[in-house]
Amino acid sequence: MVSKPAEIAAPPPPEPIVEVKAADAKNMFSEQLTLPDSLPIYRATARRDNDIIHSSIDVRFDWAKRHCLGNITITAKPHFYTSEVLELDAKGMEIKRVEDADRRASLKYDYDGEKLRIQLGRLYTRNDQYRVFIEYVGKPEEAYKGGGSEAISSDKGLFFINHDGKDPNKPKQIWTQGETESNSHWFPTIDKPNERMTVDLNITVENKYKTLSNGLLTGSRSNLDGTRTDTWKMDKAHAPYLVMMAVGEYAVVRDRWRNMDLMYYVELKYERYAKTIFKNTPEMLTFFSERLGVDYPWQKYAQVVVRDYVSGAMENTTASIFGEYMQGTDRELIDVSQNESVVAHEMFHQWFGDLVTCESWANLTVNESFANYSESLWFEHKYGEDAGMHHLYEDMEGYLDEAQTKIHPLVYFRYDNREDMFDRHSYNKGGCTLHMLRKYLGDDAFFASLKKYLTDNAYSTGESHQLRLAIEAVTGEDMNWFFNQWYFSAGHPVLDIAYNYDEATKKMRVTIEQKQEPKEGVPAIFELPMAVDIYHSATNKERKLIRMTKRKQTFEFNAPQKPALVNVDAEKMLLAEKKDNHTEEEWAFMYRNCPKYLDRREALEFLKDKRSDNAKAIVKEAINDKFWAIRNIAIKAFALRDDPSVADKFMGIATADAHSQVRAAAVSKLAATRDKKYIPTFQQVLEREQAYPVIASAMTSLYKLSPEDGLAAAKRFESDENGDLLNGVGEIYAQSADSAKAGELMPFFEKNLNKADGMSAISFIGNYTKLLDKAKLPSTNLVEKLAFLKNMATDQSISPWKRFACAKAINEFRKKYMKDQSFASNLAKMLVEIKQKETNGQLKAVYDNMLP
Ligand SMILES: [Zn+2]
Repeated sequence: MVSKPAEIAAPPPPEPIVEVKAADAKNMFSEQLTLPDSLPIYRATARRDNDIIHSSIDVRFDWAKRHCLGNITITAKPHFYTSEVLELDAKGMEIKRVEDADRRASLKYDYDGEKLRIQLGRLYTRNDQYRVFIEYVGKPEEAYKGGGSEAISSDKGLFFINHDGKDPNKPKQIWTQGETESNSHWFPTIDKPNERMTVDLNITVENKYKTLSNGLLTGSRSNLDGTRTDTWKMDKAHAPYLVMMAVGEYAVVRDRWRNMDLMYYVELKYERYAKTIFKNTPEMLTFFSERLGVDYPWQKYAQVVVRDYVSGAMENTTASIFGEYMQGTDRELIDVSQNESVVAHEMFHQWFGDLVTCESWANLTVNESFANYSESLWFEHKYGEDAGMHHLYEDMEGYLDEAQTKIHPLVYFRYDNREDMFDRHSYNKGGCTLHMLRKYLGDDAFFASLKKYLTDNAYSTGESHQLRLAIEAVTGEDMNWFFNQWYFSAGHPVLDIAYNYDEATKKMRVTIEQKQEPKEGVPAIFELPMAVDIYHSATNKERKLIRMTKRKQTFEFNAPQKPALVNVDAEKMLLAEKKDNHTEEEWAFMYRNCPKYLDRREALEFLKDKRSDNAKAIVKEAINDKFWAIRNIAIKAFALRDDPSVADKFMGIATADAHSQVRAAAVSKLAATRDKKYIPTFQQVLEREQAYPVIASAMTSLYKLSPEDGLAAAKRFESDENGDLLNGVGEIYAQSADSAKAGELMPFFEKNLNKADGMSAISFIGNYTKLLDKAKLPSTNLVEKLAFLKNMATDQSISPWKRFACAKAINEFRKKYMKDQSFASNLAKMLVEIKQKETNGQLKAVYDNMLP
């Protein structure tokens, strides 16, 4: 699964894990003489009493009640011990009938709303199979108690979108989200990742709807009542949480890979863009199949976009689900790498997660670390090593950020809530850890080990132990040292690296110190093998392999003269925080002469704010870097005042750079000079540019230098559909309006309020707020407009960003017009209502601070 790309606010820091230190334990004995009276939390793998072999499910829907009317025939057997009971997960259901499917005889059962305990009426051994028939009604809305996590904001399992058809801006859809244990809201099963079964699913819908599920569509039958029943057969066993269905009015765009069907389900108006939305799907399937030496293991691959999705995307076997943020036109998706990274992530899960499934949620990282790392693998393969490293570096930053407030081992048996496992440890840290493994083992051994892990554990479960054993079998090396520190301990090394050349002995000494605090399961010493490159000159480099095994360790190298640079961790593979004590000359040398993306990135990050000539020279050179993200950093950092001649070069970049983010950065940099001579450049961008963020940047830049021209451009784009453009128009309108004009411009905002979404909703609604204020409306009119925002803020089907933006607008008026008591208390009441209706925990916390 991929979680939502952004968060409203940082989550509250978790409760610290209290470790009993030796010294504390001694104190406890001597002073208090208390001993713990229970074991610490241990999240064990689910015990297997029975094994479901096959489930045959029929479903139809009551849209008005949001019910799933189902029946299921389960073929099962005892796992090992003789049994006369089958216990199933069946959350919030109405159970109508339970029968022995072969004898058509009723069976006794107990049901408490969560577990269905069926008395089978006789003893079965592990060599017997039995079949149970259940008629039920799934009632996800009634059962929903507001669980779920940051990654999966709701765990109802089954979702009806616009079920009453009242929202004209939303299609009617039904879709499911099984991970972690939510599919048992719509069919009874053993809802654990270590269960596996084949499935037949018959979905009955009105004829206008398309359906999708796992495996192949083997039949489609018209019924007398005008409905249609589609039969989906999944004849390879997979885990219950990977079962899915989706129903909606979709365009289904077909593609082929080898002898297999590919399907892209998108909303009708995006039909033309489906292959851009799911960019490079066939090429990725080839790449991953070849890289792993294990062909894509399933019957077909479908990808579907759904509305109001509760997470980012989900790797249901053969049928991944994605949130609507994926949809865009070809122009909107220019240089948007997110689509490819999410497509790669869910696709790689088809091997890591679906073919070999994490045995328990404590072991989630054997699913998510691979899916995360596949994104970098794909970018490296398709766009070069710099692109792969850029992606992985951003992942590492994401983990280091999270590690400031929470750390736990990658394999973590002591979580509070299984949903907490979907964090930047399981994903980002896991991906960075795999990269270290790959660099340590070498590509041949790394991928041969993955092949062995996938082959040995195919259609079964895995833990990190299985991964270690596969590596050990392939390489012949004991790998416990690596797994103990990276998988079963917490944290990461914090390194301080210092250099000293001794003229007398002609020795170069590199001293590396590990400064991480050894607490909460963090090793005092990480064992760190790494490469060190000694640059005697730009053209003469020597590589040494070192292995750090001490808290502080000095490595000595022969050097006839002081090296131009010693590049520690020359492969730039370590997951670590680093303080690398190079001189500015050395950083500059590193930027110019070292081969890796991170060599250039680290050098530039260090030098970009420095004022020395050396530093300025590197920032100027980096404007021409071969990789766009480095150019982007350099352009943003460049001080045009120091070297006005470069500004002319920026005109060329603004119109001709290969990457749209770089072009947009050059445009806003030029605008910051306030020099009118750049007006023609902005006009040129408005005429010829294809990427919307660059056009929006040119439009607001033009307004800064020539309000009249900027306003004219805004008028030109005000009926466009694109969110970036509308945001630019909104910004110009809000700035340009005086109180006379404000009333005229208001309809533009009100017409487009429903289009602004995600992060951009905050600036769009912010600009609307400015305009409302400038308009000086009579207080009753203003309250009416704000009540409209309040309705959006309380509508839980609207994105959290937008709900927040609306609440924020109301609060700003409340604070500004505190003196008008009845007005302010009116708005305070709205905010109370917003808070009461809010279901998102993070937003609730934000509103707590907002309210008086
Ligand atoms: Zn994932």
